[in-house]
Amino acid sequence: MGIIGGGQLGMMLTEAANKMPEHISKVIVLDPNRNCSASLVGAEQIIADFKDKDAIINLSKQVDIITYEIESGNSDVLKSVENNAEINPSPETLKIIQDKFLQKTFLENNSIPVSEFIKIDNIEELKQGLKKFGYPALLKARRDAYDGKGNFKIDSENKIQQAYDYFKDQKLMLEKFVPFKMEVSVIASRNTKGEIKTYPLVENIHEKNILRQTIAPARTSNEVSQKAEKIATDIMDVLKGAGVFGIEMFVTQDDEIVINEIAPRVHNSGHHTLQSGKTSQFEQHLRAILGLDLGDTKLIYNTIMYNILGNLDFEGEYKKLELSEKNIFLKMYQKKISKPLRKLGHLNIVGTDAQTIDELLLELEKIKNKIKIESI
Ligand code: AMP
Repeated sequence: MGIIGGGQLGMMLTEAANKMPEHISKVIVLDPNRNCSASLVGAEQIIADFKDKDAIINLSKQVDIITYEIESGNSDVLKSVENNAEINPSPETLKIIQDKFLQKTFLENNSIPVSEFIKIDNIEELKQGLKKFGYPALLKARRDAYDGKGNFKIDSENKIQQAYDYFKDQKLMLEKFVPFKMEVSVIASRNTKGEIKTYPLVENIHEKNILRQTIAPARTSNEVSQKAEKIATDIMDVLKGAGVFGIEMFVTQDDEIVINEIAPRVHNSGHHTLQSGKTSQFEQHLRAILGLDLGDTKLIYNTIMYNILGNLDFEGEYKKLELSEKNIFLKMYQKKISKPLRKLGHLNIVGTDAQTIDELLLELEKIKNKIKIESI
């Protein structure tokens, strides 16, 4: 199996593949960083840019199946190597998803609830759009945006020029602001035979536009959870791609669900599945793309996932973290260097039957001081 990208998601996919030797004998990742996380857990590595055409062709000749941990791959190049290796999710699915405007158009055409949006090709269109949507509204780069880096919230008329200039020559869209009461997500999967399964709805808390914490299950009513999981299934139905998808959503003030965006890959908000149930999202992704029956997605234990991020004011090598609590599972991504807000690892606090989410949150508060990233 080949994976485009060998960061932490590629690492955890490789670890899942290592447990399925009867199906996957070898993993090769394509990643520009020497000693990327996946290479440290047994993947071979081709060192090249994610979009390097020759490197992707080279990879496709060495493997039977290619998948990816990032959505910024070159879908046209991937399409051109389909004769060498099966690509999942398909390059067609990737092409729709990796452009936020095409993605939202696709969802809207399929009656999936999204916030109002329009394409922006010049500043006049931006001004018109803001008249229509009001303030605040979000100007978004259509492509290659992650961890909120591609968004500019315009909250008054005098920010228009600044927002427009911020993106220079990028393709843009404008979206109506959703005054949500909660951000949630569903990890959904569809295998090559068309079987669809979703994990239960989880709640996501962001800091500085980066996911900080996931609470599984989300603190919503059953009705809201079921509605969200049904919409996720509907999306899988129309999208047709095989694999695991992270579907980010908003819960509005009147408990409606609005889709924010879809990631065509395993997702940070699914890391709790490493401990909270029978099948991790990483195993599920492999089962989906290999055409195996999908695994059980029931949430067995209430779990809180907490991301371990690099300190804002520090760059360099850092001390090893250690935790001895029995119910806390620490997963570090073996990145040598910490950088501001870099995702270095995560931990899952796994509840026993009787433990409530509030108790787990209290436990997290108590151990936060033990998970500081400190210079060596
Ligand atoms: P994105 O990178 O598009 O997923 O957006 C990053 C974050 O910006 C989301 O997690 C939300 O907190 C916020 N956001 C994005 N789109 C909207 C919207 N239409 N209304 C309100 N908040 C949004």
